[in-house]
Amino acid sequence: MNIILLGPPGAGKGTQAKVLVNDHGVVQLSTGDMLRSAVASGSELGQEAKAVMDAGKLMPDNIMIEIISARIAEPDCANGFILDGFPRTTAQAEALDKMLEQKGLPLDHVIEISVNDPVLIDRIKARVAETPEAERRDDDNAETLKHRLDVYHEQTAPILPYYETRGMLKKVDGMQPIADVSKQIGAIISAG
Ligand code: AMP
Repeated sequence: MNIILLGPPGAGKGTQAKVLVNDHGVVQLSTGDMLRSAVASGSELGQEAKAVMDAGKLMPDNIMIEIISARIAEPDCANGFILDGFPRTTAQAEALDKMLEQKGLPLDHVIEISVNDPVLIDRIKARVAETPEAERRDDDNAETLKHRLDVYHEQTAPILPYYETRGMLKKVDGMQPIADVSKQIGAIISAG
């Protein structure tokens, strides 16, 4: 089972991906986590990613497409994967379609976790307040979030009609409690 979770920063994609990993034995492919590992390793990619992430911008499509293509080819993805944070642009969505077709892999569900901006801003503020400074994400601050939301609306939201016109997009209300969002996603998956 291969699933894309779409939604703005702070919508709960990572949280819901972890629930799906637990319930369905699939792997979570978070491009944000991959880039954070690269930053931690101090690699050349990591140095570029740090500057881009701190500014709340997006990494170039070709780099992200290459990273995901290599990751999907790894054996642990054979049981299925949850894409969390990819695709983030229409170019990435088109490249993903081609990649899946070439590898003969299906795309089973595209699920949008919908949350409006004021709720996201409150959530990120709460996350900053609750997380000790050493564990805080460098891009979790009010200033960067504003850029990340602008980037979401300008570059990522146009993916929604891309999947909608293909009859693939399902939407869940991400402003409900975490367990209720998981139930909504579970219902979409059980409906097949
Ligand atoms: P996330 O953890 O998904 O919120 O991602 C954190 C940051 O990593 C984003 O704000 C981007 O700078 C970068 N990033 C993650 N995934 C992608 C992607 N698919 N394309 C471009 N940049 C990405």
